[in-house]
Formats: sequence, C-alpha cells, structure tokens
Amino acid sequence: MNLIDVHCHLTHEYFKDKLDAVLKRAEKAGLKALIVSGVNPEVNREVLALAKKHPKLIKASLGIYPIDALGIQPEGAGMAHHKGPINLEEEFKFIEKNEDAVHCIGEVGMDFHWAEKEKTYAQQAENFRKIIRFAIKIRKPLVIHSRKAEEECLQILEEEIKNKEIPVIQHCFSGRKSLMSKGVELGHYFSIPPCIVKSSNFQTLVKKVPLTQLLTETDSPWLSPYKEGMNEPAFVVESIKQIALVKELSQEEVAEQIWKNYQRIFGKN
Ligand SMILES: [Zn+2]
Repeated sequence: MNLIDVHCHLTHEYFKDKLDAVLKRAEKAGLKALIVSGVNPEVNREVLALAKKHPKLIKASLGIYPIDALGIQPEGAGMAHHKGPINLEEEFKFIEKNEDAVHCIGEVGMDFHWAEKEKTYAQQAENFRKIIRFAIKIRKPLVIHSRKAEEECLQILEEEIKNKEIPVIQHCFSGRKSLMSKGVELGHYFSIPPCIVKSSNFQTLVKKVPLTQLLTETDSPWLSPYKEGMNEPAFVVESIKQIALVKELSQEEVAEQIWKNYQRIFGKN
C-alpha cells in the first residue's frame, strides 16, 4: 500500500532525537510522502531544511498559524516560537522565493479556541483572506486549521475561492454535519487523523465525505490513536483501517483511492 500523511509536525522537539527511527518506521509502514507543516516564519525555515535533507519522503507545507499570526502563541508549545505578530507580506516573499520547494500552504485558517472571537475575528479574517489570495496567486493547495471556527472558515473560503482555483484540505475538521456537507459541496478534501479510532465525530465525517475527497494525516506528535505515547506518521495505518471499516471496503481499496486523491491534488510536485 502507498500511504500518505498530509499533515504532521516533525520539527516538534519531541522528534529531535528520534527522527531517523520515526522515518524508518514510516517507510516500513508504506508511507510515500510526509507533508511537514509550518506555523510561523521560524518553523517554516526548519520545515524547508528538513524537506531538503529528506527530499524523497518529506514535503514542505509552509504556514502562518492564526494564533502565531496574531502574536499570541504562548512559548513552550514544543516548536520554534515567533515573537510578536507575523508580518504576512514578508513571509509571502520568503515563500515565493522558495516556491519550488513548497508543496502547499498550511496550516492556516482561523481559531476561536485559543483566541476570543469577539476580540479577534476581524484581524483573523483579514489575515486569512490575504493568505488565501496569496495561495491562489502562487497556485498552491491550502491546508486549513479551523478550530471552533469551522463555519467562519468555510464562509471565507467560499467567498475567496470562486472557481476551485486551488485545492483545499480541511485538516482535523470538527464542524457539525451541515458544515461537513458544505465542505463536500465546495469540493474540499478532508484529512483524517488516526485518533478516529476513538472519535465518533471523525467517523461521522468519513461517512459523510465521499472517498474521492478523503486524505490521511497524523498531526503528530499530537492526536495519538493510542492511550499512551505520542503520535507519528506510521500510525496513519490506523486511519486507513478505520476508513475501510466505515466505508465497508478493503484497506487496499481505501489506500489506493487516497493515493489517487493525493496525486490529483499535488500532481508531480
Ligand atoms: Zn497541525
């Protein structure tokens, strides 16, 4: 089986002394691509360096996490920290300069879990619109983070992407059923983490979304499917197993279609 992890954080300090072993286990499990996600300028540079070091397996996704963009991400999240609000234009320039090495733009979006909606909606929405327009300009897929902001993100994506100019991947989507349907109608992809084994919400999501619009991710080191320990790309196998159960297909059939979806989105880059 050809497997993919479209969203993980291998620059997290948890992987520091175990990356080689983690990559070996991923390859052994059948992983053909790991898209490592950035969240701010500092992490984006680490992501690019990592992709350069492991060009076969690791792909770079450069992002501007909504909370980092506002400059309110607390230190100690396990990844390189950015002090103060992010200068979007400057980061766009950096991404454009490295365009050939950039697989997609993410994670980006809005978050009303860590930031109060009343106080930050206007700024978050403005940042998000600018990022979407930039992604369209350089023709890169978007990977969306929409914690407690699913409806707001969908609305802005619908307004900004009128003709399916770029693919949209909803990462760890936790919106209600009507919002799942809206995302499907808009042609968005939904990437399913291994913690689906214990999440009825993700099981419902898999039921609602056609297999042609599903992908797999881990968000590792977070969202482990197991009671103990941290998450890693090899565990994407758990997402495949669970999707196969829900869709009543074999794991091979599921993996094959998800591989096709991946290729449709990313072509040869
Ligand atoms: Zn993430």
